[in-house]
Amino acid sequence: MSERTIYLDHAATTALDPRVLEAMIPYFTTEYGNASSIYTLGRHAMQAIDSAREQVAEILGSRPTEVTFTGCGSESDNLAIKGMAYASQKKGNHLITTQIEHHAVLHTCQYLERFGFKTTYLSVDDYGRVNPDDVARAITDQTILVSVMYANNEIGTIEPVAEIGRICRAKKVPFHIDAVQAGGALPIVVATLNADLLSLSAHKFYGPKGIGILYTRQGMRILPQLQGGSQERGRRAGTENVAGIVGAATALRLAYEELPEVTPRLIALRDRLIEAILRIPASRLTGHPTGRLPNNASFCFEGVEGESILLNLDLLSIAASTGSACTSGSVDPSHVLIALGLPPEWSHGSLRLTLGKENTEEDVETVISVLPGIIEKLRGLR
Ligand SMILES: *Cc1c(COP(=O)(O)O)cnc(C)c1O
Repeated sequence: MSERTIYLDHAATTALDPRVLEAMIPYFTTEYGNASSIYTLGRHAMQAIDSAREQVAEILGSRPTEVTFTGCGSESDNLAIKGMAYASQKKGNHLITTQIEHHAVLHTCQYLERFGFKTTYLSVDDYGRVNPDDVARAITDQTILVSVMYANNEIGTIEPVAEIGRICRAKKVPFHIDAVQAGGALPIVVATLNADLLSLSAHKFYGPKGIGILYTRQGMRILPQLQGGSQERGRRAGTENVAGIVGAATALRLAYEELPEVTPRLIALRDRLIEAILRIPASRLTGHPTGRLPNNASFCFEGVEGESILLNLDLLSIAASTGSACTSGSVDPSHVLIALGLPPEWSHGSLRLTLGKENTEEDVETVISVLPGIIEKLRGLR
């Protein structure tokens, strides 16, 4: 067995691209100024932030003023949802989201319910897809926000966000997209997606941890959730994470430059995994067979515990997940697998393999060669 970890958990986080690190290093060392300071060192920091914001805006097809840097993807989701909810209290108190969102969205909606807001949690089909007609039907004159993820972080299903956005735009209801899992993997031009708000997180696309992005369409009024200085045009107080901001912009630019080359390679590796792993008896694919993220291969195996599969893979230096990193350690199946309607004998045996640009065919063949034996062993068949 090789010493190197075969890392197949890119949905949880990714390794920093060395080129991103290189772009960040000056802002940890010589260029340590506070962007609010007026002397040269401070102005350098502000110039770096301005240039990063322009790079991000170019990829989103937005104005630089519509881009806010936050502390993580979760913060971007919180700011979008709470910021819009608290700013819209005079208009209504109704939020619409789905049963398969990330906890950064679900728990934010649940929190708002303590303050008089009401949430509709839309169900999904067997593949984890939201029906846009359900969104249209759920909108009332009290609805102040619809929030639907671009692609699901556990099962990889891509949601019809552009269509949902079209419906929201026609009904004049703001639409937020949690694009944290899709960022760096799928096109994120905000006009095409009909997005009013869109969340990203750099560590999901080979950027640093601790830096998020929130796109806010001009004219959308949101209330800041961090009070203090007037950084980020008053949207998010706190001295800017200059190195993180530079890293996020660099990583995003590289991801979209390399997308045409990386995507077909990931799809080929993903489909090889799916084809080979589905030969294991009593196995099934979770998520949509084709309308899924290029790097996501997720499964359920009847009558085994997902955690046991992970431990056995870990002994062979293979890093994988049962689904959401946030649910690991808990014995209950994830809310996403429950929303798919999978029976417990199946939903407990989940395995998520998420590929990245550094994975090779050899990595994939190694997993394919060891997994059937692990499942057999756990089923007590050998
Ligand atoms: C990872 C993730 C988040 C949270 O992002 P952090 O930067 O880790 O806070 C939110 N939504 C989705 C869909 C994610 O995959």
